[in-house]
Amino acid sequence: MECVLEVAGLRKSFRPGLLKPRIEAVRGVSFAVAPGECFGLLGQNGAGKTTTIKVATGLLRPDAGRATLLGRPCGDATARRALGFLPENPYFHEHLTPREGLQVYGRLNGLDAATIAARSPALLGRVGLADAADRRLKGFSKGMRQRFGLAASLLHEPELLILDEPLTGLDPGGRMLVKELIVEQRQLGRTVVLCSHVLADVEELCDRVVVLHRGQVVREGTITELLSSAPRSYELCAQDLPAALAARIAAQAVRCHRAGETLTARFAGDRLGPELAAEVHREGGRLLSLTPERESLEEWFVRLVRSEAPVEPSPPAAAPPALVEAGR
Ligand code: ATP
Repeated sequence: MECVLEVAGLRKSFRPGLLKPRIEAVRGVSFAVAPGECFGLLGQNGAGKTTTIKVATGLLRPDAGRATLLGRPCGDATARRALGFLPENPYFHEHLTPREGLQVYGRLNGLDAATIAARSPALLGRVGLADAADRRLKGFSKGMRQRFGLAASLLHEPELLILDEPLTGLDPGGRMLVKELIVEQRQLGRTVVLCSHVLADVEELCDRVVVLHRGQVVREGTITELLSSAPRSYELCAQDLPAALAARIAAQAVRCHRAGETLTARFAGDRLGPELAAEVHREGGRLLSLTPERESLEEWFVRLVRSEAPVEPSPPAAAPPALVEAGR
């Protein structure tokens, strides 16, 4: 099946000043996003995520490598119309109202005025801006701007939605909205690329992730493949324990709490919890629960980036002809 987005051997460097050495933001990044999946692009600050996204959206030309959207160069007009993009720091024409803004961005994406007018009220309502539809964007808060950006990126019903830090500045309701919108897009068979530092949400929403570190891919896989399936600890909750067993449990637990006849204890590793639960049964106690706890994506990610050795500086990239068309 054809990939929705494919990035191959991408390199991009910047010269921050005339006499300053070039910064190699992206150093040979490759990945492919399949139709209908929610794909996470992860990495620490400065890892190269936004640069990669800017090339994928046709806003930047790479020094080398290529990026294609539905088989077409990412900068090309057909590819751009298949793409909905919410940048990390969106810029809007401040004098416009959301209703007018949707007319402008919708037309840029090839929609006619009637279609835009028909879709806009429901979309502005969906992102919580119905009451602000005729106020100027100039006075909008960070979260309201983000909500408008979401509406603008969804208006033309794109096949691929790229969201760069979409949760920034949003209140809890707004964060929930973004998550619901992503799930809805998936249900409609569309593809989503999500770049976010909120890894609990990435873990909840994404099928597959790629981790960038200093401009290179250091891990790629499904969440299940990347996170160990073995529990790293167990929480046991039991009642009516013989005193000797209660003392044994307390002695082996990393944390133990007693409230009346109920004892709650946490055990490190994947064996002690089940073993002691079996003892509770054998010795006539009442096992209320035995809950495994697995490493979260956030814990896995922090462990991964701490273990990554600093990368040796590589020679500045030559500048072969770019394979992606010029950006807007
Ligand atoms: P964050 O999570 O902080 O947004 P990121 O992973 O998106 O980071 P990028 O914005 O892609 O990282 O930046 C990668 C590197 O490239 C950084 O060292 C950054 O300073 C540098 N860089 C990016 N854009 C430019 C630019 N226009 N000029 C000079 N350096 C740049």
